[in-house]
Amino acid sequence: MIYLDNAATTKMFEKVAGVMKDYSCDAFYNPSAGYRDAVKISQKLNSARKELMLKLGASTGDVIFTSGATESNNLAIRGTVRNGKWEYIFSAGEHPSVFNTAKYLQEQGYLVKFIPLQKNGQIDYEELEKALNEKTRLISVIHVSNETGAINDLARINGLRKKICPKALFHADGVQAFCKIPVNLDELGVDLYTISAHKFHGPKGVGALYVRNKNGVKNIVFGGGQEGGLRSGTENVAGIMGMLYACGCIDVKENYLKACHLKKVFLDTLQNAQGVEVLDADSPYVISLTFAGVNGETLMRSVEEELIIGMGSACSAKYSGNRILNALGYPADKIKSSVRVSFNAYQSEEEVKRAGEILICAYNKLLEKVG
Ligand code: PMP
Repeated sequence: MIYLDNAATTKMFEKVAGVMKDYSCDAFYNPSAGYRDAVKISQKLNSARKELMLKLGASTGDVIFTSGATESNNLAIRGTVRNGKWEYIFSAGEHPSVFNTAKYLQEQGYLVKFIPLQKNGQIDYEELEKALNEKTRLISVIHVSNETGAINDLARINGLRKKICPKALFHADGVQAFCKIPVNLDELGVDLYTISAHKFHGPKGVGALYVRNKNGVKNIVFGGGQEGGLRSGTENVAGIMGMLYACGCIDVKENYLKACHLKKVFLDTLQNAQGVEVLDADSPYVISLTFAGVNGETLMRSVEEELIIGMGSACSAKYSGNRILNALGYPADKIKSSVRVSFNAYQSEEEVKRAGEILICAYNKLLEKVG
């Protein structure tokens, strides 16, 4: 089976399972307990925070462990909301865990602005500049789009923030960026950054929120005060250590180059295919494609014996249509004919080439049926 839905989730590295077993069956103690063996676990978690900060290129701040990116995004947004006439800014290209949280704020009466996207999938920086002012409390912009692969220029956004609203906080959902493209949070100027382990060959149900200054964020769940008070609940030690191990296995620069090559090989196979349109955005890991005249879901189902591809965000699979492609101005029939292909750096050139061939063959067969 060829798996090209890595933006939905990745296969866990097998060695991660061993690490998780060690921290579940041997070193299983509650890190908040006071005896020596538990304190050792707590120290391991603190070293894990430091190592993740290094990987994130963050020289100051903290890492808060969470149950994954959905929780991290909720904490970043709901944790920074304050009473008063503040404004909250989001791109129109956010993942549902950000977008629906923003909608919730709106329903609660907060002033929320959604900034449109450009044709290439990135946020419209000029519109963003117009929307910012001294009342801006939070700017939240996805780093790499899980739908289109567009990479937002976070350093440019930080420049606007510094110029117009230096007191505003800047959050980025880095789920499709971390361990995939080079990330340096000091250079990008981000205050809050979300990551999720299962997108980089770690376990599901664990992630983190990087927080530059904890004073700006309040907890959204109440309990024993773990994670510096920002995320109560016993830490998922096995998951966290598994996440750290997975990220330690990855050479980001090498993987990035490999993914660029895989994307090129894949696109080469589609080069002469009539009716196939590629939204060639910035990330080498995610490609959005349309197959004119056929339904994307039908195409996905017709190849699933040999090839797994996606239909956009698995998290929004329950909703019809595609909010992001809609925001890019795609007409309804084009949205219906879209699929998403996403790579990981460990697949072979042959697999990716074969995937292109399978798609073209299935597309032609479906066209014959329709025609
Ligand atoms: N943000 C983005 C950009 C994602 O791709 C995903 C996963 N589809 C999430 C957030 C949610 O991640 P998790 O499954 O860890 O909650």
